[in-house]
Amino acid sequence: MASGLRGGLRLSGAVNRTGRYAPSPTGTLHLGNLRTALLAWLYARAQGASFLLRVEDLDAGRVRAHLEGKQLADLHTLGLDWDGEVVRQSERLDGYAAALTRLEADGSIYPCWCTRAEIREAASAPHGPLPEGHYPGTCRRLTAAQRAEREASGRPPALRVDAGAARVAFTDRLHGPQDGVVDDFVVRRNDGAFAYNLAVVVDDGAQGVGEVVRGDDLLDSTPRQLWLAARLGLPEPSFAHVPLVLGGDGARLAKRHGAVTLADRLELGEPVDTIRARLAASVGLCDPAERPSPAELVARFDPAAFAPPPSGPLPGS
Ligand code: GLU
Repeated sequence: MASGLRGGLRLSGAVNRTGRYAPSPTGTLHLGNLRTALLAWLYARAQGASFLLRVEDLDAGRVRAHLEGKQLADLHTLGLDWDGEVVRQSERLDGYAAALTRLEADGSIYPCWCTRAEIREAASAPHGPLPEGHYPGTCRRLTAAQRAEREASGRPPALRVDAGAARVAFTDRLHGPQDGVVDDFVVRRNDGAFAYNLAVVVDDGAQGVGEVVRGDDLLDSTPRQLWLAARLGLPEPSFAHVPLVLGGDGARLAKRHGAVTLADRLELGEPVDTIRARLAASVGLCDPAERPSPAELVARFDPAAFAPPPSGPLPGS
């Protein structure tokens, strides 16, 4: 084993580059999702690291059970492989509950009864260092009487962290130095579901993920996640937020943009090698006329030199 890395274990002295792809089975993967998955896989494999697959299926209202198998099959068809069993967030609830218990024990969370409309209203008012749209901490400042009144209402609260508008800085491989204010984000929704930001941090920690490669729509969530990882005593992964594929109208790629899934493209007679090459060529990893195999892409991928163009449409669409 070249890297000394397998299954998230780390040999002393080696930098942990264990990677992962974490799709939500709420829709069929489109070319943008597939390009992100390809890049996450390339970062890990080119560094001789493990690559893990995690199904983020916590949002019961949006998950479509049959899509998980389809997503995994598409990744496999594209030529990606992963180590160990697929992890499902719906089977990891004890881990999230334990993290909440820990946060509660050190006074890092509080209940929040705000409705969406109340949050919108409060978040649009000026409130110190927090950017617009961030939760300003209304329920953190409740008097005992106000809290008792809300408790008596029977409306279940969400749970938020008390982040004290902490500033968190990190360096993204592709975006360079970043620095963000952490608001009091939700860790458990008022319907009892564990929130994405909690689950992703607990899982990346538990799975030994050392390098998070994902779409750059999540760049802004990273300070929150790093803050939480520190609170939970988890190591800080490195990050590479990769550009998104956009539709011709400049919006994030979606079904309405036409033939955007692997099945759509195969049906149009585009061989999988061509689809993979288009994804790779769009971020400068090969010539549009080449048809590199997954192994060839790994051999030529240099994480330190990779500099993709910003989010944009896939050339040739
Ligand atoms: N499940 C998230 C998504 O499909 C990805 C989360 C992550 O990579 O941190 O957008």
